[in-house]
Amino acid sequence: MSNLEQDPAETICLTEPAPGVEVLEPRDVPLGGPRAMNVRRTLPQRKRSLIGAWCFADHYGPDPVTGPGAMDVPPHPHTGLQTVTWLFEGEIEHRDSTGAVALIRPGQVNLMTAGAGIQHSEVSTAAATRLHGVQLWVALPDASRHTAPFFEHANPEPVTIGDATLRVFVGALDGDGSPVTAFTPLLGAQVELPAGGAVTLPADPAFEYGLLVDAGAPRFGGADIPRDHLGYLPPGQSELRLEAGDAPVRAVLLGGVPLGEPIVMWWNFVGRSHDEVVAFREQWQRDVIGGADAAGRFGRVEGYPGAALPAPELPNVRLTPRD
Ligand code: MN
Repeated sequence: MSNLEQDPAETICLTEPAPGVEVLEPRDVPLGGPRAMNVRRTLPQRKRSLIGAWCFADHYGPDPVTGPGAMDVPPHPHTGLQTVTWLFEGEIEHRDSTGAVALIRPGQVNLMTAGAGIQHSEVSTAAATRLHGVQLWVALPDASRHTAPFFEHANPEPVTIGDATLRVFVGALDGDGSPVTAFTPLLGAQVELPAGGAVTLPADPAFEYGLLVDAGAPRFGGADIPRDHLGYLPPGQSELRLEAGDAPVRAVLLGGVPLGEPIVMWWNFVGRSHDEVVAFREQWQRDVIGGADAAGRFGRVEGYPGAALPAPELPNVRLTPRD
């Protein structure tokens, strides 16, 4: 799910941060169309495009859903990125043009490497009564972004560090790692703390970090991070201190070595130039929406009962790189 189509307002809010900590405010984005969901977007925003190679963070729910197909995202393309799906509640069926069909449930990760190009659909199942989770994208480095697409699914075991329970779904932390593929040094983990709990996590000084708070109001690096906000810490940390207040905390910890490559993001594409993204759009419209080449860049999704999503019109300005 998720796209950049309706993303007019970009804001940053600094709410009395401790030195070094940026508190990034979410903005509400109605996805509209067949998605009909509101999401809370913390990446990208005007003052921060990336955390490591993480280039997109949408947080949604809990939203009630009733019956199969309550969330129904028709086949749509991606290039130059990985999508990472992590649920707190609900169940989604994924289908993509590599032939992968997978159910995802809370505590499991779907990682889809779009590489040169892929398309996929996402539909909530009859078992889902609420949907609650995060949709994340990872920008692929230039050396890897033309790789053939592939899909991975994993079920990370919970590990305990201090008072915290962690589920590492991308990368590794303190020796506990995820089997899914990362193309740059990267971390993605669910972190839970009981009320009054605290933990000091080992940090890689080469990484920058972000803590996206789903529940509770933890202190992170000495700053209070409100619910739905993202606390950012720059590289240079040797440890990460996380303290719950009066309420239990659930959060997603993102980290990585700064990508160091300007990227161009538009709709569901990540590229390196305006012209490249225009070409991706034209290929999608011609090969898939127009039906010209089912064996083209984006392949074909089998078993989805409906048509693929047409791309929106391009803006009247040239797309500019962000870093
Ligand atoms: Mn998608």
